[in-house]
Amino acid sequence: MAEMPRTFTASAEVRLASPKPVMERLCAHFREFGEVTVDGLCSRIDTGFGVAGLEACKGCLRISAEGKDAVALAYVKLALAEHLLTFAIDERPEIVWQGDGAAGSPLPYFRQMRVVRTMQVTPRMRRVTLAGDDLQRFASGGLHVRLLFPKRRGVPPVWPTTGADGRPCWPETADRPDVRIYTIRAIDVAKGEIDIDFVLHEGEAMPGARFAADARLGDIVGMTGPGGGSIGEADWYLLAGDETALPAIARILEELPAGAKAVVRIEVADAAERQDLRSAAKLDLQWLCRDGAPAGTTDRLVRAVRDVAMPSDGRPVFAWTGCEHAAFRSIRKYLREDCRLSRNEHLAVAYWRRGFSGDTARKEVSQ
Ligand SMILES: Cc1cc2nc3c(=O)[nH]c(=O)nc-3n(C[C@H](O)[C@H](O)[C@H](O)COP(=O)(O)OP(=O)(O)OC[C@H]3O[C@@H](n4cnc5c(N)ncnc54)[C@H](O)[C@@H]3O)c2cc1C
Repeated sequence: MAEMPRTFTASAEVRLASPKPVMERLCAHFREFGEVTVDGLCSRIDTGFGVAGLEACKGCLRISAEGKDAVALAYVKLALAEHLLTFAIDERPEIVWQGDGAAGSPLPYFRQMRVVRTMQVTPRMRRVTLAGDDLQRFASGGLHVRLLFPKRRGVPPVWPTTGADGRPCWPETADRPDVRIYTIRAIDVAKGEIDIDFVLHEGEAMPGARFAADARLGDIVGMTGPGGGSIGEADWYLLAGDETALPAIARILEELPAGAKAVVRIEVADAAERQDLRSAAKLDLQWLCRDGAPAGTTDRLVRAVRDVAMPSDGRPVFAWTGCEHAAFRSIRKYLREDCRLSRNEHLAVAYWRRGFSGDTARKEVSQ
């Protein structure tokens, strides 16, 4: 008889002065992503990766987490810890998970990768091909990864491990790698390779763009993931973004079926940045060129999205957007308030923020 697949579980008891309001904030947050049920002082959250049970007790919040594999459990623990620490920031509660995924173990969603090829896709877009082991899980479950760029070439990098609270535990060193989010433009699991298309944007300190510009064969980079919201099934799609979202849009288009219609609006620096996009879907594609205006300073993309006629015949629609923070805010508001798209009908993400770097920009974004 075939063995039943085992479930990975962990639990934590977190001391809190007022656990119920914290539980309620967690529930409200995760409702954006999946099913949440509340029954008095108990709740059950589907985080999208796996499930968590919460119980608000006297002076503590009891949490149990469950995932179908080590990675799913690690993501549940990570998501809960990050949000709990944000929502109870004044108390700085200590979270110590018991069960699977012990503190100090390697992050199950981490891979060390090395550069095997580079090519210039357009004048401002560089493709870096990275090779690594056991990439099967990166082929599904989200389009993007976090890349960990070592500070110095030739110095063996020290990678993060699993922290007691479920978050990555970083080495106490000035050489701590810089982390940036990128899209898997293409993946070949059999060859053990992925392509990342980097925008070579302007700026001063910018580990991501700098890594791509200087990448040499054999350079090492860390990778965690994959992650990201899923694209809903629909007959009609709106895909809107700037060049940072071009790799994601290209990949989404490649996976759309014949019979679907995709309205695509992409903002780029100039005409030389346009790329050939392949799709079985019927395309209505417009490139929006900034022609000299710096990235993140125009409202071209926002206006183009507002000019698109949304179907009014009741067919299933899905709108996706990835772009600079200001445009993201306007487009998300428009999709939610003017177009009245539900949670299942749209996904809007800030890919970067003018004047902010890496995760700082994203933390600002999620508040
Ligand atoms: C889910 C997701 C997927 C992404 N996928 C990709 C991808 O496939 N390819 C890609 O190139 N980017 C992608 N991005 C965007 C990328 O993570 C950011 O642009 C990131 O800030 C780049 O890091 P950096 O080290 O080059 O610059 P940072 O150190 O983060 O920033 C340095 C300075 O440059 C500015 N800056 C950052 N990005 C840009 C830009 N594009 N144009 C102009 N100025 C900029 C910042 O505002 C800051 O002032 C993605 C982001 C997300 C959230």
